[in-house]
Amino acid sequence: MAASKPLIAGNWKMFGRQADLGEIALLASRVGRVSEVIDVLVCPPAPMVAVAAWRAKDTSVLIGAQDCSAVAADSARTGDVSAAMLADAGARYVIVGHSERRTIFGETDAVVRAKAEAALTAGLIPIVCVGETHSERAGGRLGEVVARQIQDSIPQTGGTFVVAYEPVWAIGGNATPTLAEIADVHDLIGKTLAGRSMGARILYGGSVNPKNAGEIFGAPGVDGALVGRASLKADDFSAIILAHPAAS
Ligand code: PEP
Repeated sequence: MAASKPLIAGNWKMFGRQADLGEIALLASRVGRVSEVIDVLVCPPAPMVAVAAWRAKDTSVLIGAQDCSAVAADSARTGDVSAAMLADAGARYVIVGHSERRTIFGETDAVVRAKAEAALTAGLIPIVCVGETHSERAGGRLGEVVARQIQDSIPQTGGTFVVAYEPVWAIGGNATPTLAEIADVHDLIGKTLAGRSMGARILYGGSVNPKNAGEIFGAPGVDGALVGRASLKADDFSAIILAHPAAS
């Protein structure tokens, strides 16, 4: 599926303090005009979203969040953060259904879909994560699992969303699928989405680093990346962004 503009998103997870937000200005200076051809996004932890957005406002770096409530309306949900609050804080995107949310917090496809729909209601672009575990892959269930996650997690309400294919076993380690395997899964996701999206961008995520980014971006059907560890420092994250063919 041809996408308009690649998206390279950084997920800081539960790392960082306000003192680390200087990395955003550094990132903006490193990527310069490349952000005219590639959307560059940083998703810090929720308490830093507003300050990050304020610090990024005169730069080309976009700010997003890592999760949102499944409930769109203001309501009595102690500790929850709504998509509308994140939009009000300056977020443009929100990651939903990251494998850490699915496995550690038990989020189901239905919850992920509700979060994606709440994000759209608030004017945010959801990045819906899908991906198989090591045992699902070893058991030959990769296609079935990813297709089910796509069918059941993506918003049913229409609107612009992004899908991130993140094999669970590839997150936080060193291993990645082969380029052919990445291309095959992106093709499957594109076919599963057919007729249900307006050219959704499909990102790859899982151990992307400055060394492997260039070849991963070259794999068919890869519209960008969702990057964890290597997004924390502007040096590494900018090297990944500059490795995209659109940057040259
Ligand atoms: C992630 O957390 O989404 C991720 C891809 O992490 P890492 O790049 O560290 O594997």
